[in-house]
Amino acid sequence: LPDEPFDNEADTDFSLEANVDWIRARVAEEKEAPPAKVPLQIGGIPHDGKGTATTEDPSRPGTVVCEYAEAGWDEVMEAIETAVDARQRWMAKPAAERTEILLQAAAELSAVRGKAIATMVREAGKSVVEADVEVSEAIDFANYYARSLSADGWSDGSSFTPIGPVVVTPPWNFPFAIPCGGVLAPLAAGTSVILKPAPQTVLTAWVMAEALWRAGVPREVLQFVPCPDGPVGQELVTDSRIGAVILTGGFDTARLFLSWKPDMNLFAETSGKNSLIITAAADPDLAVKDLVRSAFGHAGQKCSAASLAILEAEVFNDPSFRRKLADAASSLRVGPSWDFASVVTPVIRPPGPELRRALSSLDGGESWLVEPRQDPENPQLWSPGIKLGVKPDSWFRRTECFGPVLGVVCARDLRHAIEIQNDSSFALTGGLHSLDPQEIARWREQAQVGNGYINRPITGAIVRRQPFGGWKQSCFGPGAKAGGPNYVAQFGAWEDAAPPE
Ligand code: GLU
Repeated sequence: LPDEPFDNEADTDFSLEANVDWIRARVAEEKEAPPAKVPLQIGGIPHDGKGTATTEDPSRPGTVVCEYAEAGWDEVMEAIETAVDARQRWMAKPAAERTEILLQAAAELSAVRGKAIATMVREAGKSVVEADVEVSEAIDFANYYARSLSADGWSDGSSFTPIGPVVVTPPWNFPFAIPCGGVLAPLAAGTSVILKPAPQTVLTAWVMAEALWRAGVPREVLQFVPCPDGPVGQELVTDSRIGAVILTGGFDTARLFLSWKPDMNLFAETSGKNSLIITAAADPDLAVKDLVRSAFGHAGQKCSAASLAILEAEVFNDPSFRRKLADAASSLRVGPSWDFASVVTPVIRPPGPELRRALSSLDGGESWLVEPRQDPENPQLWSPGIKLGVKPDSWFRRTECFGPVLGVVCARDLRHAIEIQNDSSFALTGGLHSLDPQEIARWREQAQVGNGYINRPITGAIVRRQPFGGWKQSCFGPGAKAGGPNYVAQFGAWEDAAPPE
């Protein structure tokens, strides 16, 4: 175990001029850069693929960010064979050596902070601030997982055998931190990894992977294999030599994987339809600030985002609360990620049918408190929308829309609010705003949420402090939470010692 105890990495302080100058320069450089070329990384060397695909800048639709190689059947086979061999060598290393490499990974990730932020601004449409916290989270994963096996029960006498190679399929909404955590946990457990980055954010994942290779993760142990989602992708996740698949994505994708292979060892964190309850005992200013941040940060494209506000009737009917909420949402600066003042930035692609419906139509009893508007020049850029009077049984209440739109539901009292909050097949995040200790105690007892937050935004989980994971249909697999105890230990088994309590 490293001498230093784990500590969370600090985000960049953008109130300091020097830091603003630093990131402005990195972002300006990235904006002028020609499209990048990203190869496959298989069997220890860069590889061409069977074809190529591109990623685009959400702030400048049609502008190519990177052209990347896509694996075909043969490349996927080669990657799996390499991963099987590489696992043997990686697991045979003394655990202390792997720990050292993970700690070095934290340093390398920190060294690419500027490049990573600028790449996310360019490829994921993230604001600088949203991108910055992701780099901190990635560094936290490295520092935390480096210490995990020891903390979870490793000792000199125990022997831990990792499962077979792990395939990691991360999402585009946290294109740096989620692939990083997904890759590092099985690496810490001693197995090899094939990373299939999200097709929309391949360059960002590449910047992350390069940092890990520089830290000393062998290129055979971590391979980089974008591939199309058809039969080739299916083969990658269902091959019998693969020990587990880590997926962060939609519920339907998890179901699809399991339909291909019902006994798949799947670790998935999927969809949410998250809500924040605000009672009459809340501090309204704090509640509005946290609600708006949870709903519209990264344009609402977080599994953890607040999609519903459940207001106690007294709050719902209070004109001053409505005005505060409307003013707060309307005052958020909407613009391209390249503009440092932008808070609400473009969505990753033109809205699909669900998000379009959520942004442009109302169901029975609903009215706009704030009507969303599409930017005339960029169809991916929308200002925040707030629907008042969403019914607990409506389409919007049931559907994850993944965009800058919030529904407001009226509840008779706290009991009714919790009933509405719990009446969902998903249970990822949820929150309560109330300063009344009895209400807080009741909510803690009754809320059915994976990550529950009191008097704080419901996004932005912090490694170790708020290990992240869902409940009900938001989670598949044994359920240890990312960035928390026992997460790494899920990727193997202790042979001669009892597993930790
Ligand atoms: N961990 C992120 C948060 O707490 C959410 C991850 C996701 O959207 O998948 O906001």
